[in-house]
Formats: sequence, C-alpha cells, structure tokens
Amino acid sequence: MLTINKPSFFVEEILETCISSFRESNPLKEKLNQCKEKIVLEENTYNELCGEKKFHVYPEVESIISILDSKEMAKIYDEKLVGGAARYFYDRLKLSVVDEKCPFCGQKNIKEIDHFLPKEKYATLALTPINLIPICKDCNFIKKSHVPSTYEEILFNPYFDDFNEEKWLVASISKSLPVRVKFKVNEDSTINENDRKRIETTFNLLDLGQIYRIEANTEIGNMKFSWKRVYASKGSEALHQRLLEDAESRKEYRKNSWQTALYEALSTSPWFYNELIKNL
Ligand SMILES: [Zn+2]
Repeated sequence: MLTINKPSFFVEEILETCISSFRESNPLKEKLNQCKEKIVLEENTYNELCGEKKFHVYPEVESIISILDSKEMAKIYDEKLVGGAARYFYDRLKLSVVDEKCPFCGQKNIKEIDHFLPKEKYATLALTPINLIPICKDCNFIKKSHVPSTYEEILFNPYFDDFNEEKWLVASISKSLPVRVKFKVNEDSTINENDRKRIETTFNLLDLGQIYRIEANTEIGNMKFSWKRVYASKGSEALHQRLLEDAESRKEYRKNSWQTALYEALSTSPWFYNELIKNL
C-alpha cells in the first residue's frame, strides 16, 4: 500500500476548465456555474475530514445535488475529465504514483481513476482531485463493489493514510517442496488496532496475498541458481548472510513490500538455507 502525494491542483481549476468548454446553450454550463462556489468549499470540508481519518462521515450536500444530480456530475466527469477539455488533470493524476504502480496492490500499472467516495453516491466530490485516486484495472473492479459500513471496513486511502511507518506484512515458508510462500498481515504488529484492521480489509478484499505469492514464486525461480552457487562454493552461512543483506536492502526501500517479507522469511529460516537449498 503505497502512499502518494496529494494532487497539487484543486477542484476550482477543473471546474473552470469544464465550464469554459461547455457551449452557452448547454444547461450543464449554468448549473455547474451555480454550484462552483459550494463544490470548492466542500473540497475543504472533505480534506479536513480525511485528515482526521473520517472518510466515512462525509455528508452529501443537498444544495448541490438539487441542482446537479449524480448522473449529471458523472456525465461531466466522463465527457470533460476523462475524455474532454479537462483530460490534462486526469493524466496528471495518473502520473502521481510511485514507480508507476497501483498504490493499492503495489504491483500493476495504472489504468484508471477511482472515486474514493463513489460518484454515484457523492456527486459533490465527482470532480474533486483528492477524491480521485489512480488505480489499476483489477483493484478498481474489486473496489467498486465494496461498501464499507464501519471504520475498519474502509480501504486504504493513498492520499491520507501512511501505513509504512510500522511493519505489518510478514511471510512464512513451507517446510516442503516445492517451496510455498504465504503472506499475511501480522496480528502482532505495533500499528494501531483500527489501522491494522483496515489494512486487513484491503489485503483480503484485493487478494494481495495471492498476488504476492505469485510474484514470490517467480522471484525464487529467478534467484535459485545464484543461491545454490553461493551455497555450493561458500556454504550455508554465506547464503544466510546474503539473504540477510538482501532483506535489509529491501526493507530500507520499502518496509512492507512482498520482497522485504519474502527475504526476511528466507533469511530467518535455517531450514531453507541449510536443507531445502540442496533440493531447490
Ligand atoms: Zn492494483
């Protein structure tokens, strides 16, 4: 779960671009003009609530939806932000991620923009940049059907959550061949209980354990020739030291990546670097 910087532009710029690109005869031009000031104010309200992790208590604003309903806002989003005059902002949002990867799974590339609070229910925030999060196609597909009812069920928010201070992702290695790696959220992590539950919700819903397991299997396949050579020429302790160093390097870069969890599991498994390596 990769934290990303909040967008450096605001909804007012998007609204002005949309409004100026509508023809005079289009009723959406006047409606959007009427709602502009209120939508700008609501951006601040939403930002403050998110800063306090109160994503789920944002109230929809009647004075906006009585003029512009969710279908009209969705139409503006599709026709102006996704495929029209304001596309520039959409592309900038897609470029804001770390290593060009989806902030939710940390693996796949960005294909879409997700409304953290869905535009079908929160028309007021349909064009608001801090509610628009770059995401891969698979995560977006799964996320769309998720409706949180408690704080613990709210998914990771890449603009407002930073779950990288504490370590919470761990892996374990099977004591059999072929090697099986299992990833999970550590129940004993020092991260606070509410956040840990939200991490678990995101981890389970997006099936991150399976995504990481598949990546880990490929990594083991890629590395085994090199590991076996170290073992054959310098022995198990040399291999142990190498795995420790690899784990440390990965942890320095990203504490909760599957790579860090994998190498920590391998480097703390004497059975792996003493025994299993012989038959890998
Ligand atoms: Zn993803």
